Amino acid sequence: MRELQALMDRVREYGWRITRQRAIILQTLCELDRHASAEEIHERVALHRRDVDLSTVYRTLESLRDLHIISQTDLGRGCAEFEILDEPPHHHLICTRCGSIHDLGHDRFEAMTVAIHQETGFFPRFDHVPVFGVCSACRQGGRANSVEGTAVPRSVPNKEEQT
Ligand SMILES: [Zn+2]
Ligand SMILES: [Zn+2]
Repeated sequence: MRELQALMDRVREYGWRITRQRAIILQTLCELDRHASAEEIHERVALHRRDVDLSTVYRTLESLRDLHIISQTDLGRGCAEFEILDEPPHHHLICTRCGSIHDLGHDRFEAMTVAIHQETGFFPRFDHVPVFGVCSACRQGGRANSVEGTAVPRSVPNKEEQT
């Protein structure tokens, strides 16, 4: 479980008041310590506090995202997923065939951040990047050809396609 107190301190530094509703949402994010949809987070919050509704959870998550405390990412599972931002950030390799998700370190993105900034003056922020493609297991299975080159994230394939 992540350090709740440290997270609350960071949030306060932005001048955000920690209400009891916000505190329980932050605590839930710490307990989960993984990607979760707003619905999942709401379900867990509701175990402690029935008066926190889904729209409050959404609003709070969006504010935390804007404060750069959590990330909001489409990992190809059909919903936005939230996670506390790491320092340094982590990213993911997501297989569009089998749906497997692997971690990717931040090193490569540091070089890309500098290159983009130098070329365009734009300062990119790579918080939590989903990289879609085909994993080595699926490629070895000889099923990579049909999807190679597809840039559009697809939903996780059915069970039948995985066998
Ligand atoms: Zn992640
Ligand atoms: Zn795969």
